[in-house]
Amino acid sequence: MRAYVFSEWQRKAELREVPIPEPGHGEVLIRIGGAGVCHSDLHIMHDWTPESFPPASFWSLPFTLGHENAGWIESGDIPPGLEKGSAVVVSPTWSCGVCSSCKLGDTNYCDVETVVAGGLGRDGGFAEYMVAPANCLVPLKTLEPWQAAPLTDAGLTSYHAVKRCLPKLTPDTSAVVIGVGGLGHLAVEFLRELSGARIIAIDRDEKALAIARDRGADVCLKSDDSTGEAVRDATAGLGAIAVLDFVGIDSTMLLATQIVRRRGEIVIVGMGGGVLPFQNGLIPYGCSLTYTLGGSTRELTEIVALAENGRILPHIERCRLDDIEDVYRRLHDNAISGRAVVIP
Ligand code: NAD
Ligand code: ZN
Ligand code: ZN
Repeated sequence: MRAYVFSEWQRKAELREVPIPEPGHGEVLIRIGGAGVCHSDLHIMHDWTPESFPPASFWSLPFTLGHENAGWIESGDIPPGLEKGSAVVVSPTWSCGVCSSCKLGDTNYCDVETVVAGGLGRDGGFAEYMVAPANCLVPLKTLEPWQAAPLTDAGLTSYHAVKRCLPKLTPDTSAVVIGVGGLGHLAVEFLRELSGARIIAIDRDEKALAIARDRGADVCLKSDDSTGEAVRDATAGLGAIAVLDFVGIDSTMLLATQIVRRRGEIVIVGMGGGVLPFQNGLIPYGCSLTYTLGGSTRELTEIVALAENGRILPHIERCRLDDIEDVYRRLHDNAISGRAVVIP
């Protein structure tokens, strides 16, 4: 089968012929119906090394990229209730299942760092088939795999970030989403569905802001030097109780500290490599600042339910595996609307 294989740090992956993988104990073979193209793949290919991004020291190269996957079960240790041909999504964070984090249901924060996931250290979904552990699958009832693929990372990661802030997101508060691309446009949808808060979207791209407006953002701001002031104006001078940063570079992280209000939440999701001085007087008093990773398998079941009930819908651009390099070029140049999904 054809697969998009990453084999060397600081080099792009390439399309290659590889054997169809064989599922091991507790694993299933999935025929891929859709695999989302995440900005993290650009970091993997061009920015990171195991030295600069230590979690990658547990990855074994080469592996097939694609960590946002959905498809149909083909064979293997098929869980009870599912069968060959059942449509499923695959969680992008795999877990040991026995550590205390896993036992609490926080599978995305599994304590065993050596457990790595498909497309992130093991073979992923930019291929006709991939192998995945049966315990990281969530069944689909009505959605087609290509429609559901973005739920597994763009959806799950943004949902997890929003859920962290929910207790503080009362209707008299505001939430800011910085970077309303693949992940951020879904964060806007989750904020709209789960909270009564006003939603402020910030992006440097007008098309991304148009999608955010369509998905429920109350205020859309093109990012420039005056963005901080514009957020203050839009929040009666107070700032936002939650700021979700889906870019994660120096300037967006600094902006987050300038527009969050006292006792607020700053959640950094973007992996742009930004550094923020954590300094008295710089970050408003009582704020929490965190980096999140993906979301739990339990949260993935909640998002699938939201999508299958028609409450949220990823904005998708479909593409072919043969065009993957062009898709990454366009993702790099900000020319993808919402999420690109490869249909092998
Ligand atoms: P994307 O390219 O689809 O979207 C990024 C958006 O940010 C675009 O709309 C772009 O115009 C906007 N943007 C870029 N620079 C900006 C700036 N300076 N100010 C305002 N807006 C700006 O990317 P994506 O796939 O949504 O991923 C976003 C980030 O999240 C990436 O860094 C990715 O690696 C990271 N990510 C993290 C996790 C996690 O678990 N923490 C999971 C998936 C992705
Ligand atoms: Zn990703
Ligand atoms: Zn674990």
